[in-house]
Amino acid sequence: MQITDVETIRFETERQPKTTDRKGHAHPGEGPPERTEQTITRIVTDDGPDGYTLGGDEDSNRWMADYLEGMDPLARETIWKDIATHRRISYRRGPIATIDHALWDLAGRHAGLPVYKLLGGARERIPCYASTMCGDDDPEGLGTPEAYADFAESLVEAGYPAVKLHTWMPPYDEDPERVIAACRAVREAVGPEIDLMLDSHHFYTRLEAKQIGEALADLEYTWFEEPLNEQSIAAYEWLTREVDVPVLGPETVRGNMQARAEWIRNGAMDICRTSCNNGGGITGALKTVHLCEAFEMTCEAHGGGAPNLHVMGAMSIPGRYCERGLLHPDYEYDWTPPHLDAPIDELNDDGTVTVPQRVGLGERYNWDYIDDNRLS
Ligand SMILES: [Mg+2]
Repeated sequence: MQITDVETIRFETERQPKTTDRKGHAHPGEGPPERTEQTITRIVTDDGPDGYTLGGDEDSNRWMADYLEGMDPLARETIWKDIATHRRISYRRGPIATIDHALWDLAGRHAGLPVYKLLGGARERIPCYASTMCGDDDPEGLGTPEAYADFAESLVEAGYPAVKLHTWMPPYDEDPERVIAACRAVREAVGPEIDLMLDSHHFYTRLEAKQIGEALADLEYTWFEEPLNEQSIAAYEWLTREVDVPVLGPETVRGNMQARAEWIRNGAMDICRTSCNNGGGITGALKTVHLCEAFEMTCEAHGGGAPNLHVMGAMSIPGRYCERGLLHPDYEYDWTPPHLDAPIDELNDDGTVTVPQRVGLGERYNWDYIDDNRLS
């Protein structure tokens, strides 16, 4: 079996309306679903199954096709190492994750198994947390501590066992006192049994982060995520020592398992972070998962999507939660875009998401719709 091409399937689809503030954070838009462009990357083989994944761009896939042509699509580690090291490609986003996800999908189709079974098959259901959008200035949205409390209460009623707040970030007022008031209002609204986390403005000073972290410890939050610039390991080492709430990271720092090894060695966090999209695909994320296992440290996956679910389904020292969102009172997250027959992360009655049980990554593409709306 050899790779013969890497195709980019470009098509128009619909999404729930969103706006972006001038600092780049998403908020709900208004009106009916809006048209948007989407891609699927397809790795084509001569006499085996093809591999598919959502995303990828034409330029990257064209030059990856030149490189991958004639290679064995099951040689994932060779291909990963070669893209990551010889071509010095960033792990963060970029073609390494796209190609790796499509190769794992192909491997699953070849074996007739869902990817998480190939990876180890540790668990079928992952508890999930509701992850809110960033704060805004709408009192009916996420504009006040009381609005966060009301929304958190409705999320718990909907069946979530845990809630993660993204609070205010510029251009909205990120004053630590206001953030702490929102965290306190949410704890009072949902009671002591619900796990709560905070992902705050990522550029607080040490003293601001310490002020918030001490409040979170009193409120028994489960973790405190990325309050400081992640380029400073020393700042995180200081914070992890200073506060009792578990500190989680790094999420956006450059590098993959090597960067996380330095953080662990320096005692810069209590819980590690990885993700498939930012961590070099499933192959890259797994390297971090196994690194964490060697240090008896849990590892939480950032964001949703099929690849993350399969990695979480294969962890033997599990990260506690999968992330479902981003959510907002005015945003209809549980809505299936027309290019899919079903979303990948439907919420079960017990507050979990089932790891996809279909072969490969298990995405449920609506090929009739995609073919009717093809752009290339
Ligand atoms: Mg985060």
